[in-house]
Amino acid sequence: MSLPFEEVHRQSSFIFADAPDEDKYSVCVHCGFCLEVCPTYQEWSDENHSPRGRVYLIKQTAEGHLTLNEDVMDPVFTCLDCRACESVCPSGVQVGALIEEARGQVFYANPKRGWRGWLEQLFLREIFPHPKRLQKLRALTRFYQVSGLQTWVRRLGLLRILPRHLQALEAAMPEVTVQPLLGNSENLPMVDGKSSTRKNTGEKGKVALFTGCVMDVFYTHVHEATAEVLLRNHFQVHVPSEQKCCGALQVHAGDRDTARSLARKNIQAFLNSDADYIVVNAAGCGALLKEYPELFRNYPEEMERAELFASKVRDISELLFEKGWEPPKGELCETVAYHDACHLCHAQKIRHQPRALLASIPGLQLVDLPDADRCCGSAGIYNLTHPEMAQRLLERKLADIPDDVSTLAMGNPGCLLQISSGLKEKNVPVKVVHTVELLQRAYRMEGEGEDGAAKTCAN
Ligand code: SF4
Ligand code: SF4
Repeated sequence: MSLPFEEVHRQSSFIFADAPDEDKYSVCVHCGFCLEVCPTYQEWSDENHSPRGRVYLIKQTAEGHLTLNEDVMDPVFTCLDCRACESVCPSGVQVGALIEEARGQVFYANPKRGWRGWLEQLFLREIFPHPKRLQKLRALTRFYQVSGLQTWVRRLGLLRILPRHLQALEAAMPEVTVQPLLGNSENLPMVDGKSSTRKNTGEKGKVALFTGCVMDVFYTHVHEATAEVLLRNHFQVHVPSEQKCCGALQVHAGDRDTARSLARKNIQAFLNSDADYIVVNAAGCGALLKEYPELFRNYPEEMERAELFASKVRDISELLFEKGWEPPKGELCETVAYHDACHLCHAQKIRHQPRALLASIPGLQLVDLPDADRCCGSAGIYNLTHPEMAQRLLERKLADIPDDVSTLAMGNPGCLLQISSGLKEKNVPVKVVHTVELLQRAYRMEGEGEDGAAKTCAN
């Protein structure tokens, strides 16, 4: 006999704020359509580590049939939060949100102790939320890269004390540039359009660029490309200086209070900027920014602003597609495959927009990547917490890259780092770039041929 709702609710093992929402788990009809697209189920063939199994586990815990602890909730942590299951679920079960809410319960019920707890606290609360501290870490990384220390560490084989996946990530780490974009946008002439060779009318609206944390440390050049492409397409571009990290890493780890505090600061900074659009070039950040209202579902007085904020958020490919872009005239003679970052295709349903941008580049051959929307194993910090599964998924992704491909394009920094580390380790000479970098290059190629004509693949 089933218990009345109030009784069930009272007996729930989820006792902290933001518990998994009954409206989300109760709509699962156990059909199993999600099993075959779930990377962990594909690898382990274990129902516990499938979407259906995880939703059932959450329901059982919500109803008090299971106790709340990290061991019981292990399948919630082996989940990549890739949300491939959501793309095929006929009932619209929000598996990603349920997983994140369940992790929140474990985070508060069983705070990590010892060095793991200290490290988690250090990164989630003391470094990523504070741009100035993040910049110190950035400066240290740059010092490591340019002072010769990295060369000596590699030459002496000191990295051999690290696990293999960390060695691969270190090898693929992009060179940290001198300055981040946040706080230095005035130094980039392209941002105010002064050095643009074409007149930027700004007629398409005012864009506030979201810089993020990891993206602005390792991929500042992608921000520059984003700003340049937006200016080329007649948007005004601004970089609100009070913005913070989006909070996605905290949400994935279960630290919802820190994520909410970051969300409040971002909502304030971006709504104050009076921008028409908030543009993101990192799929993971974009997905969370669009889902800020979910973080405030128990805070009705803040919901309106969270919804207004979310309504302005666009991935760079989404905005260009929505408002129209000028197809570049410069040719890129490359064979390109596109990898769908999970948080673009499954979480934001953005699939055709980046492909349309790439297809508009003259000379560029766009070819299919088999299973392009299967996770590469990066998944936030999953490649650090579950390296064995992350490596298996990376191997599958690398094996799928067609032989004739010269460049792999994508829209997320985690995927960029993960896939480049795999390719570098195997000495595969395929370039890995953000989609917007190819557009930037094609625009820059305009007028580079003889007599100022666009350069062609033939000359
Ligand atoms: S596809 Fe959706 S409804 Fe069907 S078992 Fe999976 S989560 Fe449940
Ligand atoms: S989010 Fe990804 S890993 Fe998690 S249950 Fe869904 S498909 Fe599986």
